[in-house]
Amino acid sequence: MEIRENLATRELVLLDLNNLQRPEDFVQKMQPPGPDKVPGCPYCSADKILKPLASFPVEGEAPVIAYQHPRPLLSDAAKSPSVKLPGYKAMPGKGVHEIIVDSPLHSRIPAFYTVARYKTMLAAYRSRFVVNMSLSTPLLVLVRNCGIFANAFVPHQCTELMTLPVVTEEVKVKQRNALGYYNATGECVFCKMRRMEMDDGSRALLDTEYFSSFVPYASLEPFHLWILPKRHASSFGAISDEEIADLALHLKTLLLKFYHGLGNPAYNLVIESFPMNLGAVESYHWYCFLLPRLNQASGFVLGSGMHANNVLPEDCARFLRGVKIQ
Ligand SMILES: [Zn+2]
Ligand SMILES: [Zn+2]
Repeated sequence: MEIRENLATRELVLLDLNNLQRPEDFVQKMQPPGPDKVPGCPYCSADKILKPLASFPVEGEAPVIAYQHPRPLLSDAAKSPSVKLPGYKAMPGKGVHEIIVDSPLHSRIPAFYTVARYKTMLAAYRSRFVVNMSLSTPLLVLVRNCGIFANAFVPHQCTELMTLPVVTEEVKVKQRNALGYYNATGECVFCKMRRMEMDDGSRALLDTEYFSSFVPYASLEPFHLWILPKRHASSFGAISDEEIADLALHLKTLLLKFYHGLGNPAYNLVIESFPMNLGAVESYHWYCFLLPRLNQASGFVLGSGMHANNVLPEDCARFLRGVKIQ
């Protein structure tokens, strides 16, 4: 048994060394691709039933389009809490909930998108991030849910963007930890972690001009991956066009490895960023993580707040480095 800690986030993971599984044990049976259009899917016919907020062209292909979510979890029209009790806190669920649809075709496999589509999707994320990161937005969530096991509302390829009227305790703890490390060492903990992972190399996946991808030392689940920008920036909104092109290559390569190596699993892509409206800070560093949905959440996580992983991060990285994608 072994407990590892993520240097930057301080998340803990219990590695079950007595019952280790091999990366090969997680290979899924490949499902055949589905149809281009699915009756009842709101995003297949979004142009007829939803009002576009912004359209992002892809040369020679259908555009990436941002819409208001058809069933928003947050809204600026949210009313006062329905039940008020003395001593309990409650507030209206005010905020925006947008959906950024990859393309009108229902069953496209993202691993096979053109690099141009990835670049446009990332440019759309940046554009909607900057538009929504107003002064009244303390927390913005940008998460891509791919596949029904990734909590997708419908299994049409898309990304959700939400602004929340409050910062969660979990996010505050991460920001406080990073600030504590910076105050103690004069260094950004994420920059430090990226360099340590690339120097060690045993969990490294890709290292290009602007980004490094790796399986973290304290990987929370099998094949949990981080993509960290080399340039220190606290907010995703500051990503440059050159960095977008490089990140597009990382995403396409890693998703091709998931497709060929693991049988196209459902996954989440999350972009973690410091709020742009608070200005650039030296202590925090934006990053992305990819998490294939290969395991059921266990009661241990709920009870302890600690994750459990039964595959060595070093084995996952070695397996993915060996997956041929051409
Ligand atoms: Zn659809
Ligand atoms: Zn940094």
